[in-house]
Amino acid sequence: MSRLAIHGGSKVRTKLFPGYNPIGDEEISSVIDTMKTGKLSNFIGGWHKCHYGGDKVLEFENAWSEMIGTKYGVSVNSATSGLIAAMGAIGIEPGDEVIVTPYSMCISATAPLFYGGIPVFADLDPNTWSLSPEGIKKKITKKTKAIIIVDIFGQTYHYDEIRQIACENNLIVIEDASQAPLAEYKGKKAGTLGDIAIFSFNYHKHIHCGEGGIVVTDSEEYADRLQLIRNHAEAVVDGKGTENPVNMLGYNMRMGEIEASILLEQMKKMKGLIEERIDNVKYFSHRISELPFIELYKEHSDSKHVYYKMVMKYDQSITGIHRNIFLDAVRAELTPFELREDEGVNLSAGYLKPLYLLPIFQNKIAIGGKGFPFNTTKGHLNYDKGCCPVVEDAFYNSLVCHEFIHSSMSKNDMDDVIRAFEKVWEYRRDL
Ligand SMILES: *Cc1c(COP(=O)(O)O)cnc(C)c1O
Repeated sequence: MSRLAIHGGSKVRTKLFPGYNPIGDEEISSVIDTMKTGKLSNFIGGWHKCHYGGDKVLEFENAWSEMIGTKYGVSVNSATSGLIAAMGAIGIEPGDEVIVTPYSMCISATAPLFYGGIPVFADLDPNTWSLSPEGIKKKITKKTKAIIIVDIFGQTYHYDEIRQIACENNLIVIEDASQAPLAEYKGKKAGTLGDIAIFSFNYHKHIHCGEGGIVVTDSEEYADRLQLIRNHAEAVVDGKGTENPVNMLGYNMRMGEIEASILLEQMKKMKGLIEERIDNVKYFSHRISELPFIELYKEHSDSKHVYYKMVMKYDQSITGIHRNIFLDAVRAELTPFELREDEGVNLSAGYLKPLYLLPIFQNKIAIGGKGFPFNTTKGHLNYDKGCCPVVEDAFYNSLVCHEFIHSSMSKNDMDDVIRAFEKVWEYRRDL
């Protein structure tokens, strides 16, 4: 008789898990109010008071930067745009090197390429899977201009040590805080831990407006350059009297009034949503860590983690079964989430594949077909498999569990997930 669902036995759970949908009546009525004004965007791509956007956009930028504790907030249509604009704002030039992480969403590493900058990968700290200070130090050269550092999975980066390295080497720090709104490091909020920081409001993030982002900074100069790059810089600089022409080729990265109205409401709910997530993680981690082959990943003692994802390590030497086989069996016991039925069971093996393994780095083809900007350096660019062993271990041996801890999950829902792990562990010899 087959017991495991993967072999045709009955599943631990047959009902879909509750979807994560933080959009409610408040967002709906706020959008309707904005629609009724008929002004769905109020940007003008030239030197004009509308260079800075409409009322809702400005209100959102002020509210967000005040909450995070930065002087300026520049909204954009995605965090991807925000990261690209940040590279332009700090004056990346062809051939400049930017130290990046191999374990993130791809744009955290590819952003420099848009200005001809060269991403240089450093390895991770094996406990937190954030860039390690030692890894960064090893990659600094005369050409290094900046570091893009990610508050990965909702935990801030190793701020004290890395900030010190950046100061000593005169490097600009760009903090990709897309996964970490309201996370803290020794009382300092994510978003204040870089010279410029970026947040994302895409559909998968803690709060969202469909697609959107914001860039925050204390620097008036950076804020000004970000606003220009967001809004057709080349058409604005003349009227505005901008003197520094570097990277003043602009995009349209503007946020609309509807997105800003949604975000103003989402912001009010964010703290509650995050607290519920933190409570769920407490419960889930306590239970799952009773399994001998699961090890929770480390958290800085004095930081506040906001759990964009819940990650843990899987120990094959204890189960005797390859992670992927074990996980396939756990997935077979469970069901997808409402709203995201197409994605299958949201329990993944590693997070994203180490970024240097992407074809863009393997082939060194990004802009045009002749190897620009990789060919602007004579130095050796190492994008080889094996160049960052810690990230490869994280990718090939970790577990990433995202949705199972979001605020719509009840304890009973989480118990089903735990039961699926326990069942596969109990019958592992059938695998
Ligand atoms: C989601 C995410 C991004 C990209 O956000 P978009 O708003 O979709 O462009 C960038 N970096 C990290 C770390 C992310 O998690």
